[in-house]
Amino acid sequence: MTITPLMPVYPRCGVRPVRGEGCYLIGERGERYLDFAAGIAVNMLGHGHPVLVKAIADQAATLMHTSNLYGSPLGEEFAQKLVDATFADTVFFTNSGAEAIECAIKTARRYFHVTDRPHRSKIISFTNAFHGRTLGGISATNQPKMRDGFEPLLPGFEVVPFNDLEAARAAVDDRTAGFLVETVQGEGGMTASTPEFLQGLRQICDEQGLLLILDEVQCGYCRTGKFFAHEHYGITPDIMAVAKGIGAGFPLGACLATEEAAKGMVFGTHGSTYGGNPLAMAVGSAVFDVAVNDTFLAHVTAMGDRLRQSIEQLIPNHDKLFDSVRGLGLMVGIKLKDAADAREFVGHLRDNHGLLTVSASENVVRLLPPLVIEESHIAECIEKLSAGARTFEPAS
Ligand SMILES: *Cc1c(COP(=O)(O)O)cnc(C)c1O
Repeated sequence: MTITPLMPVYPRCGVRPVRGEGCYLIGERGERYLDFAAGIAVNMLGHGHPVLVKAIADQAATLMHTSNLYGSPLGEEFAQKLVDATFADTVFFTNSGAEAIECAIKTARRYFHVTDRPHRSKIISFTNAFHGRTLGGISATNQPKMRDGFEPLLPGFEVVPFNDLEAARAAVDDRTAGFLVETVQGEGGMTASTPEFLQGLRQICDEQGLLLILDEVQCGYCRTGKFFAHEHYGITPDIMAVAKGIGAGFPLGACLATEEAAKGMVFGTHGSTYGGNPLAMAVGSAVFDVAVNDTFLAHVTAMGDRLRQSIEQLIPNHDKLFDSVRGLGLMVGIKLKDAADAREFVGHLRDNHGLLTVSASENVVRLLPPLVIEESHIAECIEKLSAGARTFEPAS
C-alpha cells in the first residue's frame, strides 16, 4: 500500500501546526509562524479568540445538532442579523463555500423555472474564477487544473474574460440566467472587479431581467473593510455566496438572496443535514457581533491601508522581485516579477522567515491576515518580507 491514509490531493508543506495564539501558529516542534494566511481568509478573529471559544464551548454543552426537521431559534436570530445588515431578504446556511455556490446556482435556476423561463439556465462566469470544488463550482471556471479528468461537467456555463464588460454583454443570449462573479478574485490573483465592470453587469441584469450572483466567499465578511465587498461599488447582487470569514474557523457558509430571486426555493427544493445547526448558528452570531460594526470595519480599513503603504515603500528596495501591490482592505496581493515564482517565494518566507502567506494565480503572493492584526504585526510582516526578499534566490 503506497497511498497515504489522508487522500493525497494536497501538496502539503512541512509546517505542521498544533496550536494557534492570536495571529501566530505554533508547529509540532514549538516553532512560531506569523500567520498572514489565516486558514486562507478564514480565521478572521485570529486563533483562540475568547468570544469564539466561549460560543463554541457553551453551545456544544447546550445543544449541538438537531437537523432541519425542527424549528431553529438560533438560526432565525442569525439569519435576521444578516438580513438586517445586507441586501438580502432570506438566507440558506451551508457548511462551506462550495455549498453556498451550489445553492446560489440552484436558486438562480429555480427562479427561471418558476417564472416560466426554464430555458434561461446558462450562467456566465469569468476567467481565473474560483468557485469551489463541487461539479457545479468547477463547471463555472476555466481553470484546467480544477476541471481536468472530471468531465462531463455541468452544462449551462460559459466563461468570458474577467473585467471585460463588452465580452460579458456579448455572451448574453436568450438562454442566459445571469452572471456569477467574485467581487474581488482571490485564488485568481487578488484582482478587484473594476467599478465599470461590476456596475455594468448590474445594469445588464436590470435591463434584461437577469440575476447577478456574487461570490464573496473570500472577499466578503469584513475582509475588505466593508461588511461585503460590493458595498465599495454601490451595487447589490440578487444572490450571494458567503463562507470563510463567517464562521472564523468553524465550518459555515451561507447563500443570501432577495425575496424575488429566492422565489423558486420553496419547501422541499433544497436541504442540508448539518447546514445551520445550533452550534454553527451560535458561532455565526457570536462572530457577527464581534465583527460587523463600524469600529471593527474601520480597524480593517486602517490596517489594510497601513499594510499596503508599507509594501509600496518596500517595492523600490526589491524591484527585481516585487512588481506591484493590489487588493482591497486586508485582502492584499503582491505581484512578483516574472523572474520569480510566487509559490517559491511563499515557501521561502515560510521556511526561512516564519511568515505564512498563500500564493495565487498571476504570480501573486496573498496576504490574508486575521482582521484583528495590530500595527506591530504589520511591522513584523514587513520586516520578514524585506528580509525574505533579500535572502531569496529564485531557482531558475
Ligand atoms: C474558498 C472559495 C470557495 C470555496 O469554498 P470552500 O469552503 O472551500 O468550499 C468558493 N469561492 C471562493 C471565491 C473562494 O475563495
